[in-house]
Amino acid sequence: MEKRRCTAIVLAAGSGSRMKSDVAKQFMMLREKPLIWYALHVIEVSAVIDDCILVTGAEDISFMQEEIVERYGFHKVDTIVAGGKERYDSVYQALKVIASGDMHIPNVGGYIFIHDGARPFLTEEILCRNYEAVQSVHACVTGMPVKDTIKIVDPDGYASRTPDRSLLWQIQTPQVFDSALIIEAYQRLMREQDRTGTGRIQITDDAMVVETFMECPVKLVEGSYENIKITTPEDLKIAESFLV
Ligand code: C5P
Repeated sequence: MEKRRCTAIVLAAGSGSRMKSDVAKQFMMLREKPLIWYALHVIEVSAVIDDCILVTGAEDISFMQEEIVERYGFHKVDTIVAGGKERYDSVYQALKVIASGDMHIPNVGGYIFIHDGARPFLTEEILCRNYEAVQSVHACVTGMPVKDTIKIVDPDGYASRTPDRSLLWQIQTPQVFDSALIIEAYQRLMREQDRTGTGRIQITDDAMVVETFMECPVKLVEGSYENIKITTPEDLKIAESFLV
């Protein structure tokens, strides 16, 4: 089967407030490299990903261009765009570029891999497993079975339900979709937000947008327990230990 075009959206427009640092999270150093380097490097050398839209804060665009993309030679970065207030706003800004075809080679009939730049331990194997899956299912997300017991808690802080752990997965990125499907799903989300007021629907990942607005089922693809998101200072210590 002919290889379809694969475009990555790498998200690095979060405020990183839980990191309690003066330096924006994506530029904090992990070993000798800024955090955002790790995911971009895996994408750069990947046989699956063809190009990349990088999303960052409006104030960080020139730093990202000069100090990350040019300095480290990330040639697959096609465009750097400014993100939005919420994660889904940032994703939508990148999807608009893809939908407009305003790229060196437009992604028509291909796949979109949406990845948190704050997850440095992306691997080529995870990209390959998602590429294999998305060709038949059209929408898939990376995840791993949970190890802990999870409880649904009521507003007063009491356990109200304990879901069957064998059915629970923790969700990671990349989340991978047919390009037309994810563009349509996000356009419906944005129309719904315009109609009912922003924030009525709490969107925490891309699969949720597809689950809410499209008929297409979303398949889980195995990630890894190392594919963590760097959110708080202790996550950086865990990340350091993976790099030994
Ligand atoms: O905030 P959270 O940890 O869920 O963010 C996940 C990813 O989404 C991070 O890589 C972050 O930079 C990105 N993000 C973004 N725009 C936002 C919020 C988060 O690109 N408004």
